[in-house]
Order: sequence, then structure tokens, then C-alpha cells
Amino acid sequence: MIHLPLGAATNKPVVRGCKLCALGAKMVLFVTGLCDAGCFYCPLSREKMNHDVIYADEMPVRRDEDILQEARLIDALGTGITGGDPIKKIDRTVHYIELLKDNFGEDHHIHLYTASGSKEDILKLASAGLDEIRFHPPPPLWNKMTGSIYAKRLTWALDAGLDAGIEVPVLPDMRDSLISLVNFADDMGVFVNLNELEFSETNYRALNERGYEPKSDISSAVRGSEEVAYEIVSMPWDIIVHYCSAAFKDGIQMKNRLMRRAKNVRRDYEEITEDSTLILGVVIGDDLEEIHRYLRETYDIPENLISVNYMRQRVEVSPYILEDIASELPWKCYEVEEYPTWDRLQVERLELN
Ligand code: SF4
Repeated sequence: MIHLPLGAATNKPVVRGCKLCALGAKMVLFVTGLCDAGCFYCPLSREKMNHDVIYADEMPVRRDEDILQEARLIDALGTGITGGDPIKKIDRTVHYIELLKDNFGEDHHIHLYTASGSKEDILKLASAGLDEIRFHPPPPLWNKMTGSIYAKRLTWALDAGLDAGIEVPVLPDMRDSLISLVNFADDMGVFVNLNELEFSETNYRALNERGYEPKSDISSAVRGSEEVAYEIVSMPWDIIVHYCSAAFKDGIQMKNRLMRRAKNVRRDYEEITEDSTLILGVVIGDDLEEIHRYLRETYDIPENLISVNYMRQRVEVSPYILEDIASELPWKCYEVEEYPTWDRLQVERLELN
């Protein structure tokens, strides 16, 4: 399968939110897992679905400063506000838009996804500084959008000065409804973003029941979704109709965001890989301070190439140094590869002794 670069499928510009997202320069601000839409394909994890939790990228948010810190760590040029449905917590969402604009300036581009919204909600978001809004109508409405509540929501958003559009996953058996949906958007002059449908831990049963299958053994994307998307984006629309594949999200957008974070969080003893992960040496033992002192004194390790990580209960050291000395040490030594994310998800762990 050919993966077209961003925007290439239409030869038209993509919306600003997508451009910054492709650079990995958009923080994902998850403002609540609450949502009334009940989409059968909802991909949210169990920890998030229907739970009123807040995350900035992978970081759980306890206070405003957490959000600002994560934005700084990825050198964010913008934020995508998502959920759940952010409008379920409209005051919180308005507060975060103002917080981000106050701290990072008017140019910090903010887009938001929602499946709802009264006129009052949309006006509140616009006055807070929101730049772009993407509505997510449910599949049964895709071929009857004219005169629907979503037509009203789009009009309210456009009248409030927002860039407005529609974003939906491509259900492979709903090609005709999707074409009706894009026709409607074309008539209204709003953009459409199509996403490749993907299996997740929470939606696989519903997707299976509908007869959807993974497109390969190594992909979570649904067979047929991409083909229908390519067919639709290739039609001669006057609006921006953009397709975002699962591979693009994981392989380019996510990797770029991780690289931005890796460059900012990397310690002198960590190496950044081409995959935007970090490699470091790790020593595990009971008395971390004693291990740290012994290694520094015995091997003359410079201060910036070793430290104690109390949170993860380990001594961290340059992987190059640890490779050379591990066989002489009485403690367990590893070379580990981790994401540079808040949760430092481990990708690989290699025993050195
Ligand atoms: S609108 Fe989004 S968060 Fe809400 S149920 Fe649908 S897919 Fe899930």
C-alpha cells in the first residue's frame, strides 16, 4: 500500500492544526473522558473512557503547571484539545484555552474535537481564543447532515470566526454515507478530515461484530478503510479533504513529537535513537546511594554521566561506561531503551551481566 505524504492525496493545503500535528508540535490535551456520543468504534482506553481524567500527552494533569511543563518539553507550537468530549467540561476547557494563550501567545494554535456544542458553548470557546473546531457527527447522520444540529453547530462556529470542519473515521462499509457527508461539507465550505479506522483494546469486539478485520498481522488498522479514504480524497472537492492513516499517526506525527521531547529531557548519559527513544545504562540494587558512590569512586565516572533515580529505584549511568564495567559488578546491570515520555515506557531491556 502506498502511503501518501500529508496533503498529497488532495494536492491541497491541509488545515493549520494538521500541519503542526505532523511536525509533532501539537500537545494532546485530553480534558475529560466523559462523552455522550457512544460511538461503537470509540478507541479510548479503559483508564480514560467515561472517566473524568486529564492528561497532557502521556502526563496525568494535577495542576495547570503540568500542562505548561509538557507544552514546554515538546516545544509545542499548538495544542489539540480532545477527550471524551471537551464540551462536557466546558469551563475547564475554556480555562485551558486561556491558560495556553496567556502563556504561549496568540500564535499557539489550538484546535478542539467535539461531538456536541450549543451556540453558547461555541461562543465561549471562540471568545477564549480557540482557533479551530472539528465536529464528530455520528455515522447515522452522515447522509442526512443538511438541517441537522451539526449544520447549525458548523454555522455557529463559522459565524464566531473559527476554522471549522468535520472529522470522522472511515468505516469501510459506509462509503456512500461518507461521500454524502463530504458533499455536505463541500456545500458548507468546511474542511473534512478522514481517519483510518483502528482496532483498540476497547472497540475490537464491536468492530469484530460488524465484520471488520485488521488489514494485516502487524497493523491495528481496519481492512478497507484506507482504500475508501483514498477514493474519497481523490474526488474533485472544492474544500480540503484530508486523510490521516494509522501509520502516519504512529510513524511520523508521534515520532516527531517524541523527538522534540527527547531533545529536551535527555540527560548527558542518555543517547537519542533514530526512533526518538532514549538508551541508558541502569544498575539495580538495594542501596542506591552506595552503588552511586562506589561507581563514581572506583571508575572515576564524571558527575554528569551518572545519577540516582529514586522514583524508578535505580542508578542511571552512561550505557557505554556500563557496558565496559558490568561484568565486574555484583548488581544487576541493564541497557534499557525507553520512550522520552512522562511515563518512560520501556521498549527493551538488555541484561549486561
Ligand atoms: S465522540 Fe469520540 S470520545 Fe465520544 S464516543 Fe465517539 S469516538 Fe469516543
